[in-house]
Amino acid sequence: MTIVIMKIGGSCLIDRHSFKNILKIIGIYNKSKKIFVASAFSGVTDLLQKTAENLEDPIEVDKNVALIEKKHIDIVEQIFSEDSEHYSKVKEWIDDKLSELEDTFADIREFGLEPYYKDYVLSFGEFFSTFILNQYLLSNGIDSVFVPANKIIITNDEFNNAYPLYELTNSRIKRLLIPLLENPRKDTIICLTGYIGRNKIGYITTLGRGGSDYTATIIAHSLYEMGDDKDIKVILWKDVDGLLAINPKFTPESSLIRNLDYNEAKHIANFGAKILHPKCLEAIEKSKIPLEIRNFDKPLEKVDFTKISEFSDKDQIKGLSAVEDAVVITISSGSLVDVPGVLAKIFKVMSKNNISVSLVAQSASEINTSFIVKREDSKKAIDALNKSEYFSHFFEINFEDVAIINITGTKILENITKALIFQALDKKNIHVKALTQSTEDLSLSIVVEKENLIDAINLIHDDLYEILDTTRFED
Ligand code: ASP
Ligand code: MG
Repeated sequence: MTIVIMKIGGSCLIDRHSFKNILKIIGIYNKSKKIFVASAFSGVTDLLQKTAENLEDPIEVDKNVALIEKKHIDIVEQIFSEDSEHYSKVKEWIDDKLSELEDTFADIREFGLEPYYKDYVLSFGEFFSTFILNQYLLSNGIDSVFVPANKIIITNDEFNNAYPLYELTNSRIKRLLIPLLENPRKDTIICLTGYIGRNKIGYITTLGRGGSDYTATIIAHSLYEMGDDKDIKVILWKDVDGLLAINPKFTPESSLIRNLDYNEAKHIANFGAKILHPKCLEAIEKSKIPLEIRNFDKPLEKVDFTKISEFSDKDQIKGLSAVEDAVVITISSGSLVDVPGVLAKIFKVMSKNNISVSLVAQSASEINTSFIVKREDSKKAIDALNKSEYFSHFFEINFEDVAIINITGTKILENITKALIFQALDKKNIHVKALTQSTEDLSLSIVVEKENLIDAINLIHDDLYEILDTTRFED
């Protein structure tokens, strides 16, 4: 039997109709075993974070806690009848959890916002939403269990951006989830909290913002490894049709990408499309578990959704995406050509300051090295380089605000595609400041002046129209 792991995005569960929609989805997938992974309701994680970071003003804190309560109670009142046992149970449970949250805020005031406190606070959103979903299914006569993911997903200690420890997670999947799924007499639906796990000693961790996608794929991965059923699929229900080839902010004509392979999708997710958690594909790629991104409001859609699997339309450019706020730092020296270790020294300075470097370009002459950091990190990066004795003596350090355009798809490996891209940019004399593509990389990254970004994207989009978008011609 197929197992479908369905993540429900926070912006999907908003009212009575959206919960009815869940029942419809259950009907559509009635031949499969189902696991729902729920995100926090819309805006709740942000609100939890804001509150934890601003505990000085007690009136403000009370206001935020009341708002968190309201966001949940408003929905609870729409989906349960007030005289039902589920209604009372949910209300009582929310009350208890809210006092737990307030106790935690008191602790944070006393001890400071340690990383583990932060993750603990951030986990509340998924506890609320998933518990409510589980009770809703039960109130509709559906057999369902609430499973907090910190019982299943064990992670390393990197709070806020934790990484799953698969072997430990696998054994819990085997012990706790598989028996629920494999019981032939029961059709139990599992409701699992997204986004959270725990470290070995029991502290709750989170998988990074947007991490519920990752929860769904981690579960898929471990079910594949540990269970007998290998027919597994992940569906991410979102408030959009799927991945778009270009962020509609840049051009209104952007089209939906229907098929892409794991590698292409990883590139696109990393370049900030924000529809997909960048790390989530790594968990399913090896076992070739397909992942679909679907519009929650169109559960029966047959064509317009995105499928990520081992198959791709190789003739297409899969996406154009942009990093809008970046700074390119260029380190130059004529005197140290062919001296080993310069790059190592640059990256050591960056890593010591916890700054992530994205694109790196060095000419073979080794005179200049350019690399990109996020704008918010740039001051720290430049200060650190200037302070380091090595760089301040022998090197010249320059920096500039830039934007990066990433063009993704197997097609990028062909010369003719690159020729078209540069011809397009030439039409408005747009200067390329740096570029990279590694041997088998499916993405070409081009650095341009920030003010040229929109023009550049539109020029490339217009000239590569045909290879960028085939869906338009099929319709
Ligand atoms: N609730 C978390 C967030 O907003 C995780 C998620 O939505 O996937 O980042
Ligand atoms: Mg969210």
